[in-house]
Amino acid sequence: MVGIVALSNIREEVEKMWEQCNQCGKCSSGCPAARFLDLRPRKIVAMVQRDLVKEVMESNVIWECAQCLQCIERCPREVTPFDIIIALQNQAVKEGLPFPEGLTKLLNSVKRHGAIQLPMEIVDREFESYDRESLDLPDLTRPRDLDLFGAALEKVLKEA
Ligand code: SF4
Ligand code: SF4
Repeated sequence: MVGIVALSNIREEVEKMWEQCNQCGKCSSGCPAARFLDLRPRKIVAMVQRDLVKEVMESNVIWECAQCLQCIERCPREVTPFDIIIALQNQAVKEGLPFPEGLTKLLNSVKRHGAIQLPMEIVDREFESYDRESLDLPDLTRPRDLDLFGAALEKVLKEA
């Protein structure tokens, strides 16, 4: 089961993984972002096992993960490279390490509009444009109380 692992619990997780991960590489072979990652999921686990947590945290890889969860799905030994990545992202922010500017924009958009991106018109091959209405799609559902939603989101972010 996917869960967010606090960094303080990484040691516990690592010890579990030390026994569980056999470096089979199934996570890396299924990772859609693998060719863009400096470190593939198998290597992330291997580095964390060897107490190289700081090196992984300071690498770009934690921000390049596509968060698809394939590495968890494919692992035959219930290891969770994705959880390590998320825990390291949280810790990196807490420690004031740089993180992609786009993430701040994305979060602000979710807080302000309840969505990562507002619906846009799309254009087909004949350069006809369509919006949700012309495609008979229902209006986008947003949180009923955006202020309350934004405050709840802030609280989650502070506790992560
Ligand atoms: S799939 Fe699982 S066991 Fe295999 S290398 Fe990746 S984390 Fe380790
Ligand atoms: S969650 Fe991240 S590391 Fe895991 S398979 Fe997807 S992109 Fe790769």
